[in-house]
Amino acid sequence: MEIKQFKTESKRLLDLMINSIYTNKEIFLRELISNASDAIDKYHVLSLNDDNLVKETNYQINIEVDKKNRTITIKDNGIGMNKEELEENLGTIANSGSKAFLEKISDEKLKNEMDIIGQFGVGFYSAFMVASKIEVKTKSPYSEQGYLFLSEGEETYSIDECEKLEHGSEITLYLRENNDEENYDKFMESYEIEHLVKKYSDYIRYPILMMVETSKPKLDANNEIIENEYETVSELKTLNSMTPIWKKKKNEVSEEELNDFYKQKFNDFEDPLLTIFFNVEGMLTYNALIYIPAKAPYNLYSEKYEKGLQLYTKGVFIKDSCKELVPDYLRFIKGLVDSSDLSLNISREMLQHTRQLEKIANSIEKKVLSELTKLKENDYDKYLKFFKEYGINFKYGIYNSFGTNKDKLQDLLVYKSINQEKEITLETYVNNIKENQEFIYYASMKTKEQVLAMPQMDKIKKLGYDVLILQDDIDEFTISILQEYKGKKFKSVNQGDLDVLSKEEEEAFNSLKETKQPLLTKIKEILQSEVSDVVLSKRLQDSPVCLVSSENGVSFEMEKAINAMPLDDKVHATKILEINPNHDLFKAIEKAYDNNSESLKDYATLLYNNALLMEGFNIKDPASFTNLMAKLIIENANKK
Ligand code: ADP
Repeated sequence: MEIKQFKTESKRLLDLMINSIYTNKEIFLRELISNASDAIDKYHVLSLNDDNLVKETNYQINIEVDKKNRTITIKDNGIGMNKEELEENLGTIANSGSKAFLEKISDEKLKNEMDIIGQFGVGFYSAFMVASKIEVKTKSPYSEQGYLFLSEGEETYSIDECEKLEHGSEITLYLRENNDEENYDKFMESYEIEHLVKKYSDYIRYPILMMVETSKPKLDANNEIIENEYETVSELKTLNSMTPIWKKKKNEVSEEELNDFYKQKFNDFEDPLLTIFFNVEGMLTYNALIYIPAKAPYNLYSEKYEKGLQLYTKGVFIKDSCKELVPDYLRFIKGLVDSSDLSLNISREMLQHTRQLEKIANSIEKKVLSELTKLKENDYDKYLKFFKEYGINFKYGIYNSFGTNKDKLQDLLVYKSINQEKEITLETYVNNIKENQEFIYYASMKTKEQVLAMPQMDKIKKLGYDVLILQDDIDEFTISILQEYKGKKFKSVNQGDLDVLSKEEEEAFNSLKETKQPLLTKIKEILQSEVSDVVLSKRLQDSPVCLVSSENGVSFEMEKAINAMPLDDKVHATKILEINPNHDLFKAIEKAYDNNSESLKDYATLLYNNALLMEGFNIKDPASFTNLMAKLIIENANKK
């Protein structure tokens, strides 16, 4: 016999279980049954691809009670464990649910223990909430020898060889003594076990069997019922209905059941934001149960995150996270698909290539998008909640597919805007567009206040046009792929020509431009390579100058976003300096120009640097900028 120490993490979890004040200790049964069912799944899948394994036809989970010894035993004919697996799986914490649980526990310093144990799949160790000693007899189909794992929940466990002929595991719990708070005896009562199986494990696909004593009318020698005489008989009874929750009819399953199933299966403590439960029949046949978690997992955008749905065929588990079923932009959905179209014998690698799977994937994609569209139409606030959590995936979805996903996703986008309280869809924007307004205007800023303070917004504000506020780095890239929505082109408020003048205004502007051209050329000369052009502005109203980028090039926000990435190639947006011809400052410049004054150079430099600062760019030489300001202030003071 070998005595081993539990690993540190395991000790902590054990300790928590043993000293648990959690009132819902009954969940131990759910955990052990779920392990047994998983073990059978594993055996089954292996046996399909391995001719050395016996094809079982009689999978089952048995619960046996021994009231004299106060034990309860859960038996399965699943995959079992060899010696190494016993150590690996029960001596350490293998399970991610348990790990998440431990992290949570230390975060919240135990204070919420009561609330959270039940929410997690805390696994095998939860049995120590009700048992003072646990025996696991187990045998792997690949091992000749059976093994006995024994632990009294302290620091150690032992592993020994034992007699066991069949593959599978038998977990025996030696129940704790009753005390003032808890009556452990109740877990040996068949009605209690039946009740717990119904409550937590009804959808387990293998029969959960137990000998149940029932009272039956006595029969006479002719098999006739003797009135008022009863006898107690023991029968092996199947406790669960075995219909997986996703195979039930929609009206037979409550929202609560679906939510509970989600929380157990996907280790979440919050109800999902959206549940999509449907079945498809016809050319394709499958059931799907899809959830959108209330919160995006913290690692959703890391490489470690595995997107996908669980895949079952005819109720039998095939694989976790089947990524072929989910397009990247829906990577956040959780759930499962059970199809009778896929062959059970298909090897798991082969699966990737089946056309069937592709068809199912397309059909799921359509369904999820149509449910989200419904949500948007029927419960807009909830949709906004969804979008806040996951919307960025759609933006990347449009950008990364170079527009292939554009038609599917563009109506699901929402943006903040300067004229509306809540985020709006592109459709809402276009429906509320002003007469004569040709474009969908946008500005890349974090807040409404910042957009409203932009000098480039002067004219647009006056016209009352709404402007979308693009808050994410990806936004302009997505817009550049969309290009237009319902015939209206997108236009940045600080890029290219704004197209906001009437015909007469345009004509007046052009003649003014001609007369001022020599001055503008002079300023361009002064600023040299810094700007690609210096022009009079059509968009400024109250502000003296602003910078814009050229219509067809990279925008300022793109320049910032791209240059923030760890790439060697930096990009530069072309910078065009726009000057407001109606501003007093312009008059001052004209005067300096007409007098052929040296100050023109100072003024031009100062204006350009101001415009840079307003755009959130760094100025090249802050020291000479400050000196120049000081110089001009002093000059001005001396004049007076
Ligand atoms: P989880 O089942 O969530 O992974 P547990 O702590 O309950 O976590 O179990 C740890 C591991 O022990 C399982 O992943 C599985 O490999 C193994 N195990 C538990 N119960 C059984 C069983 N009845 N048959 C075979 N292996 C089992």
